[in-house]
Amino acid sequence: MEHKTDIKSLSFEQIKALIAGYEVPSFRAKQIFEWLHVHLVTSFDEMKNIPAALREKLEADCEIRNVKKKNVLISGIDGTRKYLFELNDHQYIESVMMRYRHGNSVCVSSQVGCAMGCRFCASTIGGLIRNLTTSEILSQIYEIQKDTGERVSNVVIMGMGEPLTNYRNVMDFIRLISDENTLHISQRNITISTCGIVPAIISLSKESLKCTLALSLHAPSDEIRRKIMPIAEKYSIKEILHACDQYFNNTGRRVTFEYCLIDGINDKEEHAKALAKLLKGRNAHINLIPVNPVPENDFGAAKEQDIRLFRKILEDAGINVTRRREMGRDISGACGQLVRRTV
Ligand code: SAH
Repeated sequence: MEHKTDIKSLSFEQIKALIAGYEVPSFRAKQIFEWLHVHLVTSFDEMKNIPAALREKLEADCEIRNVKKKNVLISGIDGTRKYLFELNDHQYIESVMMRYRHGNSVCVSSQVGCAMGCRFCASTIGGLIRNLTTSEILSQIYEIQKDTGERVSNVVIMGMGEPLTNYRNVMDFIRLISDENTLHISQRNITISTCGIVPAIISLSKESLKCTLALSLHAPSDEIRRKIMPIAEKYSIKEILHACDQYFNNTGRRVTFEYCLIDGINDKEEHAKALAKLLKGRNAHINLIPVNPVPENDFGAAKEQDIRLFRKILEDAGINVTRRREMGRDISGACGQLVRRTV
């Protein structure tokens, strides 16, 4: 089959350019764009005010890439919903919706699988299958919004995959979802999480976006980081912090450092002190996450007393600390628990 244009991944300008070749009035571009990104349709047939002849042309040249809901698990503890979606090529991904007082947040996947190999994370088991298209990242939010009938106001790109190794599609996703003629989710409510791909962080800092950057640090030294994150062989903490500083300087957005506490690996007093020293003087925010259980590894969550001491040391050093609520753990929907298996 010849290659069809993935129309849901196109910007409004690109849709205008596409239909310029069809000799139809240019206002059709806006209608098509709205059907896709406001009414969230999944087929050309549903575009009621588009003449049949144009719909046929679109059908012939383009595809609408959707994700199909296969399963939803709902946490009995906090109402978090974990979705299993099937893609056109029968791959599976997961997304999670969390309800907060300030609104609904969706955690989207950016890849099928992941190549990064973090040892505490389930998403990387089996490696990387492929990048998600912009349309497939958008569709996760669209389907969840339709399924719940509730508005999604926050997006975290923290599901399966390393978003900065799917750079172009993730940038297009951020621009589309925050466009004023789509769901218009504020860039300030979008967080992009990375294990620290330094050149991509530098590029990101020049994109003129207002998103929050979350950096998966997880260790106060390169030595410890290398034990749990293969990417640490490639980039040092020093280089990462330098790139994060550049992100802050260019965007004015405070960087969040994610630190998952693993019993006996990175959760003791000495680690907290080293971390405080590392981040001292930076306008940083640390998000502590007791590591979530993954059956394929034997890392255990830090003990409550260690977590409390760790937090106190950072706070005493004047660092802004929050502890991530472990939402959706009972449905394996918490950080590091997303997989591409079907059950
Ligand atoms: N690849 C990106 C985004 C996906 S992971 C990144 O590395 O940031 C989202 C967050 O969950 C990351 O901070 C990741 O390190 C963390 N995480 C992975 N496995 C985890 C686990 N078992 N428990 C707690 N957090 C985990």
